[in-house]
Amino acid sequence: MQVPLLDLKPQYRALKEEIMAEIGAICDSQMFILGEKVQKFEAEIAQYCHSKHACGVTSGSDALIISLMVEGIGPGDEVITSPFTFFATVGAICRVGATPVFADIDPVTFNLDPAQVAAKITPRTRAIIPVHLFGQCVDMDPLLELARKHNLIVVEDACQAIGAEYKGRRAGSIGDYGCFSFFPSKNLGGFGDGGIVTVNDDEKNRLLRVFRNHGMDPRYYHHFIGGNFRLDALQAVVLSVKLKYLDDWTAARQRNAAEYGELFAAAGLHEDRVVLPAAAPGSTRHVYNQFSIRIKGGRRDAVKQVLHDAGVGCDIYYPVPLHEQECFRSLGYRSGDMPHSEQAVREVLAIPIYPESTLDQRQYVVATIKQALS
Ligand SMILES: *Cc1c(COP(=O)(O)O)cnc(C)c1O
Repeated sequence: MQVPLLDLKPQYRALKEEIMAEIGAICDSQMFILGEKVQKFEAEIAQYCHSKHACGVTSGSDALIISLMVEGIGPGDEVITSPFTFFATVGAICRVGATPVFADIDPVTFNLDPAQVAAKITPRTRAIIPVHLFGQCVDMDPLLELARKHNLIVVEDACQAIGAEYKGRRAGSIGDYGCFSFFPSKNLGGFGDGGIVTVNDDEKNRLLRVFRNHGMDPRYYHHFIGGNFRLDALQAVVLSVKLKYLDDWTAARQRNAAEYGELFAAAGLHEDRVVLPAAAPGSTRHVYNQFSIRIKGGRRDAVKQVLHDAGVGCDIYYPVPLHEQECFRSLGYRSGDMPHSEQAVREVLAIPIYPESTLDQRQYVVATIKQALS
């Protein structure tokens, strides 16, 4: 049996005609940049994410960068985030010239630990970027409390978490900015790169729109140095069609996660050998962009190899904590500084969870892991 980690083809086959008709209409119009279809999609995302506004941008990475730019965060400023995330979270901080400050994760949820964040706040701290990793929200209330007390901006990195909820509130609507990615492997994926920033504040929304178009307002008058961060109409129409099905796909991911829970228990693979994703405090809707398990006992790499040989796709998100990346050496962190992140990179393994994967496939995945650990 072959079990890919992700297969986007079934989703494409099901929606091909609907999507191609929309793409054809854009091509007929030859209107590719921003425009009415982008506006329509922005309104749909704002509604879906329970935010007042949404501003379409070029990628999730640029969503993070433009949010920091609008706040004027730059050289001399510190931004606190997790070392256990995709590179872009921290890359964005550096791209605006600010200094990333790492706080360790909660080992149970893989998400930023508010107590660790509190210990890292200095007079230079301007913002916190909580990352809703793998599709589950960070425990936001303690972070919002810290932000209020120290006058900090909260930029949610919700790139893996569209539709996730914290105490019934949608990811992206909780902090000052919500940053989303439409990279094809995200739960809502385009036919290329794309992203969006959700925001409740009218003035921040206005500035996002100015910054994404070279800081230009009106045309050819530049108040700020922005960039070209515009979402294009082709991506917007693809995403608009797919958004209608997102809740069905999320429900399928949740069903698949529940089935894994039953299968691992039935296989007798308990916490001493395999640790399954656990609910974070306040997390009321996990959208499972990834189903990342921990393999205990130093056996992760061996299990990965057995799965690979058996035709099961799996991957490590992420193999190196960001404070140990070569490009951040000048920040002065050392191994041992972030023990929970350092342990996570040695133990995590993401296994197939995509909506169309089948029970047969999950049974095979669990049986193969059991065999690898026996
Ligand atoms: C995917 C991702 C990003 C970057 O999004 P792109 O659209 O690929 O630029 C940022 N942060 C996290 C946590 C991500 O998973």
